[in-house]
Amino acid sequence: MPEFRPRDSFRSPRFAQPATFMRLPHVENVDGLDVAVLGVPFDGGTSYRTGSRFGPREIRAQSSLIRPYHPALDVSPFEVLRVADVGDVDVNPLNIEDTHARVQAVLDEMLELGVIPICVGGDHSISLAILRSVVRRHGPVGMVHFDSHQDMWDEYFGNRYFHGTPFRRAVEENLLDTHRVIQIGIRGPVYSSDDFEFARSHGTKTIRIEQLARDGLASVKKQISAVRDGPVYLSFDIDGVDPAFAPGTGTPEVGGLTSREALELVRALEGLQLVGADVVEVSPPYDHAGITSLLAANLLFEIVSVLAANRLRHKQPQPEA
Ligand code: MN
Ligand code: MN
Repeated sequence: MPEFRPRDSFRSPRFAQPATFMRLPHVENVDGLDVAVLGVPFDGGTSYRTGSRFGPREIRAQSSLIRPYHPALDVSPFEVLRVADVGDVDVNPLNIEDTHARVQAVLDEMLELGVIPICVGGDHSISLAILRSVVRRHGPVGMVHFDSHQDMWDEYFGNRYFHGTPFRRAVEENLLDTHRVIQIGIRGPVYSSDDFEFARSHGTKTIRIEQLARDGLASVKKQISAVRDGPVYLSFDIDGVDPAFAPGTGTPEVGGLTSREALELVRALEGLQLVGADVVEVSPPYDHAGITSLLAANLLFEIVSVLAANRLRHKQPQPEA
């Protein structure tokens, strides 16, 4: 069993060597891993600014800076979990349904082996494919979803699959335990108040940014911990964060989370039965000084650290037999 540790920065400076997520080993065989970080460089589902196909590559580069101990959670995740960069899904840049099938094929195998997937987009359309695989393994899941959009529209230019529809499709396909779905950071102008009707009628919880500003982080954390009964998926659209902190994205909405709030709210997933996660919608061509990719990289580290804390302090996720 090879060691799954980040490359030692005292032997090889952090800016040296081909970039992998958090300087972890790149492996192709996922067997024996606890957690796999997987790139999904697909942006054929975007409706406005493109470029998130370059997300995984740039997030790898920015993640080189990350050091391996998490003081706030008091955990060294790579001493607790076997985590590796498993490369990218070879997507079909010209076909969303074929890309979904390719994502599912990779994830089905991973989940079959008991590996927890953390996917790096790519646009948000990929989350539907990931959820299909996760649910095949775990049954319908709760979801903590950070975004400025609910992504529950019905269709766009006659297409049912794009980055504005993944969670409506997921509800229709019975992938989500809707009463344990919480969407955080929702804001901005929409077409009409009808746009919120789908979520309302299916009993998912929406925490608008105005509500977060009014009630504070503690109240949101309480709502997050309320979805703890059963497996939970985390989907983090970087446009949930304010474009002042995360300008490199396809459909920015002003007035969002700060990066500090984003990290703290992801940290609040400690104790939840987290069975998979994604960080999506980072578009490096619209970024400045790499700040959006740097934030995404740190969110990935936050997620890995939460998984490690769960294993250490909450006996979750259970190791596979
Ligand atoms: Mn969004
Ligand atoms: Mn989204």
